[in-house]
Amino acid sequence: MWFFNSPEIVFGPGALDYLEEIQGRRAFIVTDANMVALGFAEKVEQKLRSGGLDCQVWADVEPDPALATVQRGAHAALAFEPDWIVGLGGGSCLDAAKGIWVLYERPDLTPDGINPIERLGLRQKARMIAIPTTSGTGAEATWGIVLTDEAEQRKLGLGSRENLPDMAFVDPMFARHLPPRLTADTGLDALTHAIEGYTCSWANDFCDGPCLKAIELIFKYLPRAYADGSDAEAREKMHNAATLAGMGFGNSMVALAHSMGHSLGGVFHTPHGRAVALFLPYSIEFIARGPTMTRTRYGEIARFLGLPAQTEEQGATSLVKATRDLMRQVGQPLELQPLGLSRQELEANLELLATNAELDVYTVTSLRVPTHEEIVQLYRYAHEGKRIDF
Ligand SMILES: [Zn+2]
Repeated sequence: MWFFNSPEIVFGPGALDYLEEIQGRRAFIVTDANMVALGFAEKVEQKLRSGGLDCQVWADVEPDPALATVQRGAHAALAFEPDWIVGLGGGSCLDAAKGIWVLYERPDLTPDGINPIERLGLRQKARMIAIPTTSGTGAEATWGIVLTDEAEQRKLGLGSRENLPDMAFVDPMFARHLPPRLTADTGLDALTHAIEGYTCSWANDFCDGPCLKAIELIFKYLPRAYADGSDAEAREKMHNAATLAGMGFGNSMVALAHSMGHSLGGVFHTPHGRAVALFLPYSIEFIARGPTMTRTRYGEIARFLGLPAQTEEQGATSLVKATRDLMRQVGQPLELQPLGLSRQELEANLELLATNAELDVYTVTSLRVPTHEEIVQLYRYAHEGKRIDF
């Protein structure tokens, strides 16, 4: 038995206008200071108010939100008593909004109690709208919540199918402000979602379509959105691609590039997309060269993109090359060194990095599950830019 879950998606230019149609009493808008400064929070608030809702903007979300942030947000929501929780921003804001929503409905829980096994019984008090302003995380279409445990320097993957947003507003207007670096980081995060969603051990017929379409759109439009942020078509396609990738991996999983990237981000605070994209080619090489190679699907992706893929190995090689070419085009580091991480820093933290990656749930859904020693070796290879030959 399996499920495919998706929010109702309102997309395309002008999508935000549909906020005026939302029925309710009070909306609690979870966002950050940047969204307020850009005027986006006000725009959302205006639309909701013109539909007759009272609004409160809670703009206290920090990048990589901590468990404590979500608890503070839930306290504010409990005082305001909204019937809509609106997440506005990048993945951090949307994840914080999901966590706040759960704790608002279930004040008896702590954030680490938000898991797929616990029956949450949400939607007694509120429903949730997600409005992404980056084209990357796909958090508007997934139920996963990534929060940071500051005490343990570790990112926690929480969430339950119940906390999937009810509606997602995918309006490319919000993506126009993204500077090139953030466009590249978030766009490559979406690519990693789509490739890992299609190739991990939980891949399924229902996620295949959204993943493949997202991969195609990202290869085609990310260089354009990066080179010229005012390219409206590229922005719209990238915004759609990120949500499609979210629908794909959100109903499948991600894999090794994400566990290694999460672990790196937990210790060195590397931006999520930059970290996971860096490990994507290494993880493909590692998985494609292992004993599971007969079951990998890199050749299918390569053929879909029109790349050479006579054999599975050739397909994997083509996909790795295309990914690295794309990363170069958008000025993305291919190794840990240009990321600003010295060999000494890496070695000093290697045990912690490898242990956290090993414990990360996405390592388990990798088609080939690495040993601790193999993860250590992968981090070293990623530092040197060495090609993998296990
Ligand atoms: Zn990601």
